[in-house]
Amino acid sequence: MKTLLIAECREGKFLDTNYELFGFADKLGATSAMVLVGRQDDLPAFAGKLYLADAAKFGEYNPDLHKKLILATVDQEKPDYIVFGHTSYGWDLAPRVAAALKAPQLSEVVGVADGGFELPSCNMKMRRTVKPQGTPVLLTLQGGAFPVLKPGGTPQVVPLETAGEPGVNFLGYEPAVAKDVNLSKAEIIVSAGRGIGKPENVPAIAALAKALGGELGASRPVVDGGWVDHAHQVGTTGQTVSPKLYIACGISGAIQHLAGMKKSGFIVAINKDKDAPIGEVADVLVVADVMQFVPALTAKLGK
Ligand code: FAD
Repeated sequence: MKTLLIAECREGKFLDTNYELFGFADKLGATSAMVLVGRQDDLPAFAGKLYLADAAKFGEYNPDLHKKLILATVDQEKPDYIVFGHTSYGWDLAPRVAAALKAPQLSEVVGVADGGFELPSCNMKMRRTVKPQGTPVLLTLQGGAFPVLKPGGTPQVVPLETAGEPGVNFLGYEPAVAKDVNLSKAEIIVSAGRGIGKPENVPAIAALAKALGGELGASRPVVDGGWVDHAHQVGTTGQTVSPKLYIACGISGAIQHLAGMKKSGFIVAINKDKDAPIGEVADVLVVADVMQFVPALTAKLGK
């Protein structure tokens, strides 16, 4: 089985998250070649075939040209799977390549099971397994769903070229405007999840964050519900954080949340369900009603 892994380069750097693509290929027991529109001086530690196009020439992102570069590689490699990260790059590019190849695409793969791929359903409350037909199949992988795997070694570089006019001009990246909170620099984060029950309970979680000298974080439903501003959201569509201490209050541990916080130094989860998935990454799981436990802890800290 063969995978063609589509790597990403941002501001001249080979992204560390590209190594999750190797983790996926390993899980599949597949061999890999990689495509990178990047820079000769920042290559992955991987002893396989690396199709390398120059980002200075083709842009770090340019849908028309990158699609052509990938299609040229598909002709040579004839992969079973063409694998992207489920990022803005992958979201945009994978369907273009799939349409050009008239090939099926599965988006947001979170697991491999029973000869198929697991996809989230019912807002990640369940997973469904899909077995696609034919080859190649295009896949985008949810961030954090597969382990980071650094195969090691030096790639065998195959220069990649294409011709044609770019349909768009890539102007650059614009960082999201940070509001009054900078989670990426916080050493302690206390995050509120749907388990806190209602917006009126947010101040109790914020009070614990303050008592610890930390910042308030939140899961997506809390943000979507308008209880907390999006600047506080942790996860794939929020911020990626790595504080020394992360306290998850009433958060189940969905993959999209874990992807944003599982590199924290020490993780405490407060959840009334002893089997909540957050327990798999937590150093300490406190099985309790969050709205009883948190105010009591804050009061103790104040003494
Ligand atoms: P729930 O999953 O509803 O969990 C609530 C938890 O609280 C449960 O474990 C429950 O046992 C516990 N609980 C309930 N009552 C109490 C109580 N009284 N005391 C203690 N515990 C209690 N999510 C993110 O967080 N960040 C993202 O960036 C993000 N991006 C996403 C992107 C996409 C494309 C998609 C599809 C989803 C994304 N999600 C994201 C949503 C994610 O899939 C989950 O739905 C979400 O993380 C769940 O939030 P939660 O844990 O707060 O709520």
